[in-house]
Amino acid sequence: MTIFSKDTIFVLLLGVFAGCTSSSDDPVTTKEVSPESERKTEVITLEELEVPESIQPDTLGIRLRSFGLTSVTEIDSTFFIDLKYASTDNFLGENIYGNLKEVFLQDTVAKMLSKAHAFLKEEHPDLRMLIYDGVRPLWVQQKMWNLLDSIPVSERVKFVSNPANGSLHNFACAVDLTLCDKQGNPLDMGAGYDDMRKIAYPELESHFLESGELSKEQYQNRMILRKSMRKAGFSQLPTEWWHYNAMNRNTARGKFEIVP
Ligand SMILES: [Zn+2]
Repeated sequence: MTIFSKDTIFVLLLGVFAGCTSSSDDPVTTKEVSPESERKTEVITLEELEVPESIQPDTLGIRLRSFGLTSVTEIDSTFFIDLKYASTDNFLGENIYGNLKEVFLQDTVAKMLSKAHAFLKEEHPDLRMLIYDGVRPLWVQQKMWNLLDSIPVSERVKFVSNPANGSLHNFACAVDLTLCDKQGNPLDMGAGYDDMRKIAYPELESHFLESGELSKEQYQNRMILRKSMRKAGFSQLPTEWWHYNAMNRNTARGKFEIVP
């Protein structure tokens, strides 16, 4: 996918909102909700967290496991994984996870995801799930925040969650994913991962389908993914076709700690 520079992002965010890195992970299912205006009212409390100077690439998985998290492929080995933050193919253009190959989630969330995968394979035997991101430790959130420090805080919160608030990725209760074939080739969803354009918004899909900007096939691919995820109990963000929450933020706070 396209790698956006900080400057590019700054220009893009003036008109649109990006990514699963965003400040609101709470599920929204109705079209009346205006996520952008909600984000604008978020209280900004900047707390600088200590970012490890260098996380040894081969120890990040061990570190995540030490917090009681589960590697999803240990529950279901048929998932495909392409951790975008373990490469430079992400909106920051920087490898943050080193050579991490596994996706870690809370154990109950990993089990929910394997159910969703089973639903998918039952209805579409030729399809699989391709996971882009799971847990995002708080220091990673802080690093993302710091990397974009050329952007004013009031604008930055529109596409990178303020680490002081935590996001469902920080609780290991959210997952970013798409569909792929049995060889791991991703299906066409009409917009890439972390695409900042409104064509990535689930809440605007009907509009883009009607205008022809989203093809029937692209639309259907999103629906297939959503149906399996919802059946397993996940909810979708209104602005990111790839992002799913296993629960809302209050429930996550009651059950789990933020992964440091
Ligand atoms: Zn996400």
